[in-house]
Amino acid sequence: MANAWLSVGANIGDPPAQLAEAVRRIAAHADISVAKQSLVLTTKAWGKTDQPDFANATLEINTSLQPLDLLDVLLGIELAMGRVRDERWGPRLIDIDIIAYDREVLQHPRLTLPHPHAHERDFVLTPLREIDKTVVDWIIENARISN
Ligand code: ATP
Ligand code: CA
Ligand code: CA
Repeated sequence: MANAWLSVGANIGDPPAQLAEAVRRIAAHADISVAKQSLVLTTKAWGKTDQPDFANATLEINTSLQPLDLLDVLLGIELAMGRVRDERWGPRLIDIDIIAYDREVLQHPRLTLPHPHAHERDFVLTPLREIDKTVVDWIIENARISN
């Protein structure tokens, strides 16, 4: 069993309802259990700022899935919920990122661990600190030594 930390975000439709729906789908997967969930945070858009505010939350999960299999499950949930990928960092119905998977460091064409922008995003770090301060410290330390 591994521990992983996920960030869920949305900024079109009914963002809090979509976060709740994403958590429900994640928790319903046979190989994933949700251990902790942060409060929902409302924030200004990051990167591409001319779009509606985001609702964001983080989760801690326990999973028997390997990182790439977990990614596929999460991308499948995004797709099932109607996510369309067009412009980079554009508006979305749902976004589910893997912030960290145990203390694994991975550079794969489809998956970077920890998430390459997590250390510079307050909308990830603030709710993550609420559920696990030690993983936040590790993400920041990892970014410091890899830069
Ligand atoms: P960002 O990754 O900067 O938050 P984004 O979430 O908008 O941007 P997406 O379009 O959702 O980007 O994802 C593009 C690709 O990023 C995914 O198909 C996936 O292969 C890849 N990816 C790399 N590392 C991760 C990660 N840690 N979590 C989720 N996806 C990742
Ligand atoms: Ca993202
Ligand atoms: Ca994503």
